[in-house]
Amino acid sequence: MRYISTRGNAPVRDFSSVLLAGLAEDGGLYLPESWPELSVAQWRDLRGLPYPELAARIIAPFAEGSITHDVLLKLCRDAYSRFDHPAIVPLTQVEDGLFVQELFHGPTLAFKDMAMQLLGRLFDHVLNERDEKVTIVGATSGDTGSAAIEACRGRERLNVVILHPEGRTSEVQRRQMTTVLEPNVTNLAVQGTFDDCQDLVKAMFADGPFRTDMHLSAVNSINWARIAAQVPYYVYAALALGAPDREVSFAVPTGNFGNVLAAWVARRMGLPIRALCVGSNRNDILSRFLNENDMSIHGVVPSLSPSMDIQVSSNFERLLFELLDRNAAECARIMTEFRKTGVMKVATPVWDRANALFHGISLDDAATEAEIRTLNTRSHYLADPHTAIGIAAGRAFREPGIPMVAMATAHPAKFPDAMAQATGIRPALPASLADLYDRPERYSVVPADLNVIEDRVRTAVLSNSKAG
Ligand SMILES: *Cc1c(COP(=O)(O)O)cnc(C)c1O
Repeated sequence: MRYISTRGNAPVRDFSSVLLAGLAEDGGLYLPESWPELSVAQWRDLRGLPYPELAARIIAPFAEGSITHDVLLKLCRDAYSRFDHPAIVPLTQVEDGLFVQELFHGPTLAFKDMAMQLLGRLFDHVLNERDEKVTIVGATSGDTGSAAIEACRGRERLNVVILHPEGRTSEVQRRQMTTVLEPNVTNLAVQGTFDDCQDLVKAMFADGPFRTDMHLSAVNSINWARIAAQVPYYVYAALALGAPDREVSFAVPTGNFGNVLAAWVARRMGLPIRALCVGSNRNDILSRFLNENDMSIHGVVPSLSPSMDIQVSSNFERLLFELLDRNAAECARIMTEFRKTGVMKVATPVWDRANALFHGISLDDAATEAEIRTLNTRSHYLADPHTAIGIAAGRAFREPGIPMVAMATAHPAKFPDAMAQATGIRPALPASLADLYDRPERYSVVPADLNVIEDRVRTAVLSNSKAG
C-alpha cells in the first residue's frame, strides 16, 4: 500500500516510512492511495475472531508490502496481552438501543493505549529491520504522554522525551508518566502551558541539524498508523451487533478527530455504519462546523474533559480531503487559508456531504456532570467526563432500530475528583495501578526555553546510549 499527502506535494511512501515520518513534508497528512474494501461475505468471516486476530486482519491491507500478516498478528497479540479485560474492548448496554464500548482497559486506562501499544511494537519492528534508532519527542496535557511512555518503555531502539506543563496535569496523569524509571524515558515538566510545550516540540522539529542528529520522530495523533490501529474496534462492535446484515451508528467524544476518523475509515472499507456522532466539550470547533459551517479558532477553555481541550482538530484535514474528492490542491488552499485567518468555511455541497453522515453536539461542564449523574443513577454506569459526552451525543442522535455505540475513552478512576463531585463516588484505580501513589517519581522541571530543552534531550539520548 502506498501513501499520499492530503496536500499533494510530498513523496509517496509505504506504511513503514509513513509510520516513522508522521507528518508529510508539505505539511499535509498521509492517507492510503486507495481504500481496501471488504465484501459482505468477508465481513461475515471476521465474526467471532478474538480481538488481536481481528485487528491483524483489518490492519494488514494498510501495511501490505511493508509488514506481513504473520508479523502483524504477533505484534497485535503482544500489544493487547496487557489489557485487563478478556474481551479487550467489551461492549455494555446502558439503555434501550444505546451501548458503550470500553476502550480503556489498557495500561494507562485511556483509549490512546489501543493504538499506542501497537505503535511502540511497530516502531521496534521497523527500526530493527533498518538497524536504526529514533528519539520520540512529544507534548502532552495528560493521556498521550503516558500512553506513549508505556508503549516505548524499555524498547532498545527508542528514546522517548515527553514535555508536560508543570502542575497542570492531574496527579494520576503525571504519576503515570513520571513513575516509569527505564533509562530510555525522560519526563520534562515545563514551566509554562500545554501550548508552550507544543511550541517547543514544533521548534525542535524545525531545528534541522538537531532533528537529524537526534533522529527525532513523533507518535502524535496525526500518525497514520494510529488511525489504522483504531479501525478494528469499530469493526468488532459492529459485527457483535449484527453487521454486515444490520446498520450500526457510533458516538465518539472528540478532540483531534483521530478516533472518529477511524470509524469513517471502517465505513469507507464497507462496514455498514449509518451515522457518526461527535461530542465536544465547550471547545466546540467541530460541532460548530457541523451545525453552522463555522470552523473558526477560539481560545481553549479548560474543562472537565481535558483530553478534548483543543483548538484545532488536526485529523479533520483527512476527512476534508475525502469530502473534496481528494482534490489535494484545494485541500492545501483551504488549510493554508485556515492557518492564516483562523477561519474555515467550505462550499455548501461539501458541508452537506459532511452533514449526511456526521452529527455534532457540545456539552459544557454542568451538562457533562449532569450526564455522569444520570448514567450512574439510571443505568448504574460510571462514565468518566469524556465518555459521558460521547454517550450524551449517542443518545441525542439515536434512531429507532439502529444500535448506537458510544466510545468509552477513559477509565473513571483517571478523573476521581470529577467523579466524586458528580456522583459522590471516588472510583478506585485497578489493581495494576493500585500503588501508583506510592511509586517513586523521576522528572526534571525546566524553563520553557528551547536551548535548555534541546540540551536535556541530547544528554538523555547520550546517557542512554552509554547505559545500553
Ligand atoms: C485523546 C482523547 C480523546 C479525543 O480523541 P481524538 O482522537 O483526539 O478525537 C477523548 N477522550 C480521551 C479520554 C482521550 O484521551
